[in-house]
Amino acid sequence: MQISQKQLDLVNDRIRALVEAGSFYGKKLAEAGITHVDSPEDFTKLPFSEKKDLRDAYPLGLMTAPEEEIVRIHSSSGTTGTPVIIPYTAKDVDDWAIMFKRCYETAGITNMDRIQITPGYGLWTAGIGFQNGAEKLGAMVIPMGPGNTDKQLQMMQDMKSTVLCSTSSYALLLAEEIEKRGIKDKIHLKKGVIGSERWSDKMRERIHNELGIELFDIYGLTEIYGPGIGINCPGETAMHYWDDFIYIEIIDPKTGEPVPDGEMGEIVITTLVKEGAPLIRYRTHDLSRIVPGKCKCGRCYPRIDVIMGRTDDMMKIKGVNVFPSQIEEVLANFDEISSEYQIRISHLDGKDTMRIYVESTGDVDFATLSKKIAEKVKSRIGFTPIVKVVEIGVLPRSMKKTARVIDERYD
Ligand code: ZN
Repeated sequence: MQISQKQLDLVNDRIRALVEAGSFYGKKLAEAGITHVDSPEDFTKLPFSEKKDLRDAYPLGLMTAPEEEIVRIHSSSGTTGTPVIIPYTAKDVDDWAIMFKRCYETAGITNMDRIQITPGYGLWTAGIGFQNGAEKLGAMVIPMGPGNTDKQLQMMQDMKSTVLCSTSSYALLLAEEIEKRGIKDKIHLKKGVIGSERWSDKMRERIHNELGIELFDIYGLTEIYGPGIGINCPGETAMHYWDDFIYIEIIDPKTGEPVPDGEMGEIVITTLVKEGAPLIRYRTHDLSRIVPGKCKCGRCYPRIDVIMGRTDDMMKIKGVNVFPSQIEEVLANFDEISSEYQIRISHLDGKDTMRIYVESTGDVDFATLSKKIAEKVKSRIGFTPIVKVVEIGVLPRSMKKTARVIDERYD
């Protein structure tokens, strides 16, 4: 998807603002002698920005608007090392809410809906993003935040929540709890807006079946506003994204070269109107592709496919590149197992070993099943894993991102 002239003009405005502010990226651009870009080709020569740079700019090096215009900061979770701090102007906060409102509208959510928000509030962008968008829409927000399942379910019944915003793991946990307690007929949910992690078709199917709700994938990351920069429309899996606010290109993660529309690669995002901390060609490390052609729904916003994983999820086992999504796709073809799985990679006696744990949903012979799964995985990735079948409910459920791959080789 080539950058348009209108988008290029906006990029030039951002470059000017960065250089004038002398912020972290402003200095980098000035040092590289970049003051503007004239063509789409020029644009693809602009340097990438990386999470590592954003950490180097800690605490407020990214701030590009005058301090009196900054109304808020957010921070990415920072599980490893220095966090990233993103400053927002009032316009940035409002633009984000406009995009998020558009996401809700795309999902068919209206100001008559009651939206129960379970992602966390605070430094990170999840809870407050869902909230601002819902308020912009005029819907009633039930701002729960994460955890306390008893209270979540109580409020869900008493407030007659119609929309659930959550991670996929937490939606699954709630669905299982509702089933267990036999309160399904007291639940009024119609739609789920699910963000922040990749999830399998199988997991989607389980949440959909157990809660009987229509599910939507919302895309976003703290460095680029937060969740709300894209969502799928009803009946489709690809996500529309808002190209009046962001420009998306897909690159080959190894070479950094753009790939043709339709081909899988790394999502790179440029913010077109952001003031507090504009980013140019930010490498997300998320894997997806541009979905070419026009959507059946008639919306003109371009689309990316569901996120297929992270460039850094790639595991090198026995010299072979393996993506967890490849294993997941194989497992999805077995009806005898649940959507939960865990991959453990270890190094024993000079050899890499991959063990895959899966949960059986029914009355099957575990040994035969594990042999069948091991064969299918081998035909997909080229070597035979050790497959262990366990009873349903044994593998960990998490309220946050479920850790499905554990690499024990470097402990
Ligand atoms: Zn559509």
